Amino acid sequence: MEIRVTQAKTNRTRPKDSDLGFGQVFTDHMFVMDYSVDMGWHDPQIVPYADFSIPPSAMVFHYGQAIFEGLKAYKRQDKKICLFRARDNFERMNRSAKGMCIPQFDIDFVMDAMKQLIRLEEKWIPETIGTSLYIRPTIIATDPFLGVRASFTYKFFIILSSVGAYYAGGLNPVKIWVSKDHVRAVKGGVGEFKTAGNYAASLIASEKAKKEGYAQVLWLDGIERKYIEEVGAMNIFFLMDDELVTPNLTGSILPGITRYSIISLAKKWGVTISERKISIDEVFKAHEDGKLKEVFGSGTAAVVSPVGEIRYGDKVLSIGDGTPGETAMKFYTALTDIQYGKAEDKENWIEIID
Ligand SMILES: *Cc1c(COP(=O)(O)O)cnc(C)c1O
Repeated sequence: MEIRVTQAKTNRTRPKDSDLGFGQVFTDHMFVMDYSVDMGWHDPQIVPYADFSIPPSAMVFHYGQAIFEGLKAYKRQDKKICLFRARDNFERMNRSAKGMCIPQFDIDFVMDAMKQLIRLEEKWIPETIGTSLYIRPTIIATDPFLGVRASFTYKFFIILSSVGAYYAGGLNPVKIWVSKDHVRAVKGGVGEFKTAGNYAASLIASEKAKKEGYAQVLWLDGIERKYIEEVGAMNIFFLMDDELVTPNLTGSILPGITRYSIISLAKKWGVTISERKISIDEVFKAHEDGKLKEVFGSGTAAVVSPVGEIRYGDKVLSIGDGTPGETAMKFYTALTDIQYGKAEDKENWIEIID
């Protein structure tokens, strides 16, 4: 399929790296492609970033049949642009598609289209360490129809956003709040897919957490409300004595690529890493026994996010001394050094766009 390119007639400039927040500055162009039953995925284009014209009856607005991904392109000191495990994101997106009855797409084709888009938007990639170009591939259901079924038509798009350093002032440990009343996802549901509704469902708990002064929600499993699943939109790790524990994937947890990367590095470094059930009671008990050394979240946006406090009902547990833990920092440094080309990419996670 040939990608038609229409150049934008704008002359916008990228804000200073220090003025970039997250997901606020969008670039000049986007990739779009449509799906119909007759034509499959067709009419791929790179066009100026602009509003879509979609009927109010489009199914995505009513029934939330939508999936997305989040990954980054980095500009290294040698000016090369690189991607980190990008294929894994598109493989996960096709799994999300399957889970949400959205047609599969050709991963190689979409990756090539994304690279072409990134090359065209090179001036939007900030260069300071910690900054990046955030990439948001999305698919939405577009049938103009009020009735619950899988749509027959879809729109695939990729938009890009210049993003600032997540930790402009260093990695500050965050306070997290255990949700007792709300759950994010249940086994048998769609928690393992990056689908819009999961995030809509998370809002009520995160608003409550914020009101109490907490940055993120710690989600427990939806059935027993005992076992830890995720933190906000990140996976979570606990260092208890010498064992690094992360919840095993049960169907209600999003399989994070940062999570997999941390598990691989831990194995390589000889750290005892367990993917297993871990209850909130076990975490409090480990803390009482002096075994809980560190807690941190993992995800593309923050890479690693140290946790300094956990609140569960009336109980408050504080971890560490207000500075990020040694293990969290070790993973953060190892991953960002690979991403920014400061360390050798021994795992073959990096792809240079040339
Ligand atoms: C995207 C996401 C993650 C992190 O996945 P990465 O691939 O590491 O960015 C974790 N949990 C949820 C709910 C997510 O949406």
